[in-house]
Amino acid sequence: MSDKIQLLPDNIANQIAAGEVIQRPSSAVKELLENAVDAGATEIRLLVADAGKSLVQVIDNGSGMSETDARMSFERHATSKINNIDDLFRIRTMGFRGEALASIAAVAQVELKTRRQEDETGTYIEIENSMVKKQEPVAYTQGTSIAMKNVFFNVPARRNFLKTNPVEMRHIVDEFIRVAMAFPEISFSLTANGQEMFHLTGGTLKQRIVHLLGASYTAKLVTVQEKTDYLNIYGFTGKPDTAKKTRGDQYFFVNNRFIRSAYLNHAVMSAYQQMIPSDSFPMYVLFIDLDPAQVDINVHPTKQEIKFEDEKIIYAFVQSAVKHALAQFSITPTLNFDLDPSIQQLDAVAKPFTEDKKATTEASSLYNTFSQKNQAHLIESKSELKHWKDFYPEPKQTGFKSILSAAIEQSTGKFEYETSVSNPQTAGSEQKMQLIEDAPLIQLHNTYIVAPVNTGFILIHQQLAHERILYERYAAVSKGKSMASQRSLFPITVPLSAQDAVLLQELLPDLNTLGYEIELFGKDTFVIQGSPADVEQGNEKLAIEQMLEQYKHFSNEVKFSKREKLLRSVVWQHAIKPGKALALKEMKTLTEELFACDQPNITPSGNPTYIAFKKDYMERMFGR
Ligand code: ADP
Ligand code: MG
Repeated sequence: MSDKIQLLPDNIANQIAAGEVIQRPSSAVKELLENAVDAGATEIRLLVADAGKSLVQVIDNGSGMSETDARMSFERHATSKINNIDDLFRIRTMGFRGEALASIAAVAQVELKTRRQEDETGTYIEIENSMVKKQEPVAYTQGTSIAMKNVFFNVPARRNFLKTNPVEMRHIVDEFIRVAMAFPEISFSLTANGQEMFHLTGGTLKQRIVHLLGASYTAKLVTVQEKTDYLNIYGFTGKPDTAKKTRGDQYFFVNNRFIRSAYLNHAVMSAYQQMIPSDSFPMYVLFIDLDPAQVDINVHPTKQEIKFEDEKIIYAFVQSAVKHALAQFSITPTLNFDLDPSIQQLDAVAKPFTEDKKATTEASSLYNTFSQKNQAHLIESKSELKHWKDFYPEPKQTGFKSILSAAIEQSTGKFEYETSVSNPQTAGSEQKMQLIEDAPLIQLHNTYIVAPVNTGFILIHQQLAHERILYERYAAVSKGKSMASQRSLFPITVPLSAQDAVLLQELLPDLNTLGYEIELFGKDTFVIQGSPADVEQGNEKLAIEQMLEQYKHFSNEVKFSKREKLLRSVVWQHAIKPGKALALKEMKTLTEELFACDQPNITPSGNPTYIAFKKDYMERMFGR
């Protein structure tokens, strides 16, 4: 028998490795932008075509490469950024693994042009499937241009796996924003299919935030700034009134690298406690700078997760810095200025880092704020520094059954709620529940409607009931029913952020079948000509903005199709909300329409629309 093991040819090995680094066009955007930043560029241009599927090109005015380096840069594990193992703990550049260009060259056609200032001519290299096709001298300005063409042209399975252009474009814009946000002093532009989407001149972080996230934040940013010997935190957080329903505008950077951290996010959220509704998310752009030896950015190939040497102390610093910022701008009138003694007993605070660092740390300002009485930080909950997993309660049980079982558990057994999840019109052998015609309806607390029925009475939740009604009405549209649309008196223009514009564009066809008449109207601006009859005239713009927020809120729900998410977002937005007083006629229509539904007793997400109180239970409650 002959031996079987062979070494993989380079191009196949590179293709496999590339799978980790280049997952979609936006991965190349991130890598190429970061390389340009690492090369010291002050001006970086990103060009994409066909949502990056046919072209991702980054042009910078950075250091450029020598002819040899240009050729070497495409080798796997080729990097100019580390020389020895100790360098790994001193990383100040964005890249260091030397994998990006090799990966891109393994899965696409790449064209590189580069010239250093000291060289007379530049270098042009064409490479495809890890193989150099052409290399020649070229006249070029100082800097580098790298174009990735037809990504995955040689890996059809992965090419087919790419999402629609609007989705891929959204990923690209996300990556662009993350890099541009981290380096406000560098000029960036993004041009898609020849149209310039972003043009950002170098400036302050505040200017960059407003450019990227929208002018609505202009007067709404609170400065966060804490310096210690261990770490610095700086950036901005939004005033509480800017909190949104989605966590879109939340950015954490550690040593200028965008990271996702549920743990640190929780630290910020807890600083806002009681200032914003619990289901809303404050905007923040926060930078944490610390000794690279204190972090391990190497845990994830695309480097969005991060490990800290001491997570707890960073949590406490972040929370404290944000609270301090909010307090200084007197945004928290009810601040409790007492320091919770429990935090001082925590190891992370009482015994900071290592013994040899202790002396310097104890002198540092933020550490002192932890140990001083009457400082401006509010640290209230004893449990706040427990292991972070404890912060996340089990997914909230909101299903009808769970609510009922909870309610029944609490009840004394003397009465029960309607427990059938099926249609009450057909449920079992029990007496059918029917509305009593022309019986008076009462609205309570501008939220509930009390409606007598033959079997007792029901307590309807006006918003949840309306959600059910609208859901069935809109769902019928997909089965061919047409939707009543009202034309706006005047066409309404809706300017959106670039991110939201890409999203709305994606949703337009479906929205238009639901009775909206919306068209693209210039760059990132849409015009509403008409809207479904359920939208109050004059509220169309708000309706669209809220609907987009809600849609993004649903975006994590992988189990829903795009259309289902849209449907639910529109339904949520259009449904009458608690707090709205209803006329008798409106209550009557709502109640009747609810009972005409196929599934009247639960909302699309499984909450009850009403609770039924049956006559015989009521009798029993009164001990009769
Ligand atoms: P890494 O960034 O991890 O070092 P890459 O594969 O992204 O690995 O790049 C390999 C090398 O090519 C870099 O270390 C750098 O020396 C060089 N390089 C890449 N892009 C540029 C650029 N835009 N300008 C100058 N040098 C570059
Ligand atoms: Mg790199």
